[in-house]
Amino acid sequence: MPILRSFHPSLEARIVTLIGILACVIVGLGILAIHKDSSALAAQERLTHDDAVVAATMRILSDLQNAETGQRGYLITGDSSYLDPYAAGIGNVYQDIRRLKKLLPGTPVNRSLIHHILLMTAAKLRELRKTIKLRDGRGFKAAAYLVDDNQGKKDMDALRRLLSGIRAHYRGKLKSEIAIARGRLKSTETLSIIFAGTLLVLLVIAWLNIRAKLRWKRRLTRSISARRYQMPVTGLPNHELLMDWLVYHLNWARREGGKVTLLLLDLDGFENIAGTHGDTAADAVLREAALRFRTTARSDDLVVHLGRDRFAVVMTNVAQESDMAEMGHRMIDTMSLPVVLDEVTVSVGISVGISIFPEDGKNPHQLLDAAIDAAVRAKAQGRHRVAFYKARTETQMSTQAQLRNDFHRALMDGEFCIHYQPIIDAKSMRLTGAEALVRWQHPELGMLPPAAFLLLAERTGFIRPLGAWILQQACTQAEMWRQNGLELRMSVNISAQQCRDSTFITELRHALNSSGLPHDLLELELTESVLMHEDAAKVIEHLGGMGISVAIDDFGTGYASLGYLRRISAHRLKVDRSFVRDIPQASATKLLNALVNMAHRLELDVTAEGIEVMEQEDYLRGIGCDALQGFRYSRALDVLEFENWSRKWAADAVA
Ligand code: C2E
Ligand code: CA
Ligand code: CA
Repeated sequence: MPILRSFHPSLEARIVTLIGILACVIVGLGILAIHKDSSALAAQERLTHDDAVVAATMRILSDLQNAETGQRGYLITGDSSYLDPYAAGIGNVYQDIRRLKKLLPGTPVNRSLIHHILLMTAAKLRELRKTIKLRDGRGFKAAAYLVDDNQGKKDMDALRRLLSGIRAHYRGKLKSEIAIARGRLKSTETLSIIFAGTLLVLLVIAWLNIRAKLRWKRRLTRSISARRYQMPVTGLPNHELLMDWLVYHLNWARREGGKVTLLLLDLDGFENIAGTHGDTAADAVLREAALRFRTTARSDDLVVHLGRDRFAVVMTNVAQESDMAEMGHRMIDTMSLPVVLDEVTVSVGISVGISIFPEDGKNPHQLLDAAIDAAVRAKAQGRHRVAFYKARTETQMSTQAQLRNDFHRALMDGEFCIHYQPIIDAKSMRLTGAEALVRWQHPELGMLPPAAFLLLAERTGFIRPLGAWILQQACTQAEMWRQNGLELRMSVNISAQQCRDSTFITELRHALNSSGLPHDLLELELTESVLMHEDAAKVIEHLGGMGISVAIDDFGTGYASLGYLRRISAHRLKVDRSFVRDIPQASATKLLNALVNMAHRLELDVTAEGIEVMEQEDYLRGIGCDALQGFRYSRALDVLEFENWSRKWAADAVA
């Protein structure tokens, strides 16, 4: 998702936030500057007030200086007896004092110098007043004189001069300062407004931009979210989802102390398919593989398609390594059946590598690497195998598990073979049939009888590819013998699983068509338990329609009633070896007798199995058994042995 990766809304949002903060700071500084400027202005304006006070004080001082002694006495003491009612100029002083009185209480004199001057003035006045009071009673003339004292006059003069000097100084400064402060205030205001306005515009533009991008991303994400996590060919989740899934589940496992199992499924020979049959066929194989993996996995397992020929399964809640291996084998089994495409049928195997959290990897990447490692090893060991990342587990695997690991390789390498046991016609004593019995020539364990591996093959589903192979092999062999003048009815054992498999009829048709064996020369042996199954009736009917006969194998060991036999259209009963073995005990002979009679009445032929001695043969022929099979004639033989045996049997019969 390179487009999305290139866009980080968080980064842009951060830039916008930064611009916002900057705007706030600038606006704040502006407000501060305006505040400072305006308070400076206010202070300057207070100075003009102070100036007025000083001016008034000076006027009073000069009035006092200019006043006559009597007037001064009155002004300072408030005693009207000082006054010479006829003296001129008193009105001015009155006015000034009134003005000063008005100004003084509201004067927040903060200029310490002015304050000081005023205090000095006040002190001087107080001192004068005190002197007058002290001398009060001895006559006001003396007080008036004091006030008229030259020293007092001089003091006031000095004060006045000082004040006027200061006043002249700060008056000039005051004017220019006020002008500057006014100018500054104005420019600060303008600048702040310009700055804040610009930033505000920037902020709005940036935010609109982000909003548009976010909206676009959301739309894009929504439209690709399905595709983002999906592989286009198979529709399965992809590598990205696997990683997210693992992150989540590893966290969970870390918290809860659980395990997470990762199975890597590596298709074998996939490149060949693409090379030989083209990409469309290869895609079809991938789709089929995806479907099979998905149906084989448990519902809460995650199945992903990692790349061209790699799939993976994540399992949680699995603690036993044997269960993990079991899933691996099931995946191998599900791919062991060939994939039928429009024109061709291809076989794809898989190798499975397993890694486990927390042992094999601490994070999703390590875990995946470990699983890939294991899969590569599984492939190197001979394909169709399950390998754990930690080799120790493999050495601990049971013989059964090892056998199972070997199944698919063995089938490919031709280790399975079929032996044929002759079946003799009871009347003519001629060779009329053969039963195909599978064997496994294991490289280490030697020749294995079906009992050693069939149950496992059933359980694991390997019986399906194996059974298909046996069917094909037996039909081909029977047809070859027929063309060489040895016409035999070929009996093939069919397992329950095979019978239930939806592809069974297709495989059967394929075996008959490709071999060219006439349908009536094929007989399928099904055991009672298989026949009892509901689906079987349909299959048997189908077989009947194709002209293939059905034998009920191991009759008498299961639970099928004779009544049941009437309902299914079988052609033959194979009486189990256990009855033959007990001949001539009455319990066995009575039952055998009844069985043969009943079968004949139901128009079923009877084959007796496990005939080892003449006595058994004689008895069975005597009660009308139709065919005979057992070691008395021959054990199951390989093709060459069988051909030799049949020649010898024919020659003996003539002799
Ligand atoms: P079955 O179908 O009842 O096959 C007959 C078995 O009895 C064969 O054992 C055969 O070797 C053995 N047998 C034949 N004559 C005598 C005799 O006179 N005495 C004794 N003691 N045994 C005799 P085998 O080949 O070991 O097969 C065992 C079973 O494995 C078969 O029983 C059949 O159920 C199954 N099986 C064998 N081959 C196949 C196969 O190709 N497909 C399937 N689905 N099952 C098979
Ligand atoms: Ca059989
Ligand atoms: Ca049997």
